[in-house]
Amino acid sequence: MLVVMEKTATKEEIEKVIKVIQERGFTARPIPGGDRVSIGVLNNRGSVDPSMFNGLPGVKEAVPVTKPYKLVSREFQKQGTIVKVGEVSIGNGHLTIMAGPCAVESETQALTIARLVKKCGAQVFRGGAYKPRTSPYAFQGLGKEGLVILSKVREETGLPVVSEVMDYETFDLVEEHVDLLQIGARNMQNFSLLKRAGKSRRPILLKRGMSATIEEWLMAAEYILEGGNSQVILCERGVRTFVSHSRNTLDLSAIPVVRKESHLPIIVDPSHAAGRRDQVIPLSRAAIAVEAHGLLVEVHNAPEKALSDGAQSLYPHQFEKLCREVRTIYDSFHTVG
Ligand code: PEP
Ligand code: MN
Repeated sequence: MLVVMEKTATKEEIEKVIKVIQERGFTARPIPGGDRVSIGVLNNRGSVDPSMFNGLPGVKEAVPVTKPYKLVSREFQKQGTIVKVGEVSIGNGHLTIMAGPCAVESETQALTIARLVKKCGAQVFRGGAYKPRTSPYAFQGLGKEGLVILSKVREETGLPVVSEVMDYETFDLVEEHVDLLQIGARNMQNFSLLKRAGKSRRPILLKRGMSATIEEWLMAAEYILEGGNSQVILCERGVRTFVSHSRNTLDLSAIPVVRKESHLPIIVDPSHAAGRRDQVIPLSRAAIAVEAHGLLVEVHNAPEKALSDGAQSLYPHQFEKLCREVRTIYDSFHTVG
């Protein structure tokens, strides 16, 4: 249920509505809009009777929210959320490119790639310090050392950094070192991690689980908003299907659906969707054409020597081409300036 207040509603009238909601044992969540306030009614098991708000001064209407997700939905908030990562804005009116290696391998590697991607137009540097690997024998990431290197990258290049947080135990440490915390596909429904992310002071990049429906994905984001953190970016990274020509199948139709259903920004990771570099540029172009707010791309200065995901990592010159082409596509349907 969403209680929409009149534009002229006073502070006292808003407080009265909140009190009525709380007296029934529900949670009231005021949502500031452009010119009026709305108040979300949460934690109701069954349906709420709208008549309990009718006749209260300052109330315009009480609208039932039909979707299971509330705080992330467009029904609750009409205007698109802009997420700030350092000085970078992600969301409507911005095209944001995040790029870097799958994993931080050394200070020299990270700094070299960061300088390269920055020159091409990337605004955020990516690099995993803790890596979720299918095999326990594969490179697991540098851990804390990787986080320290990421801090150094930020210091040297000015780029904010994004890195994956894999578990509750290392959350504080990752939070301390990076500007944007990534929750990976394998952890999309790790509820204790989602709840911790809701308490974080950092923005969260929430990847879609490889077999998650859009509803499950938005419900995962709902956990974070419900916990008090409204700074969430969604990331489509491909879902598992029967095909063998790519690692996953990039679900581009998720972009218009999510943009309609939710006010949260959504970006696309073409690298993990494709699993091979020859598909990354075309998928990136397509992602921007369907109005994703940005991209998360794997780039390596020597992909053949990469300790993880080398086959899908772009060479620097390919990344330069990608940035140029997606910018042209973006500008073709957005007024420049
Ligand atoms: C990654 O971004 O390096 C990664 C492991 O992604 P995903 O969780 O989408 O597989
Ligand atoms: Mn990777």
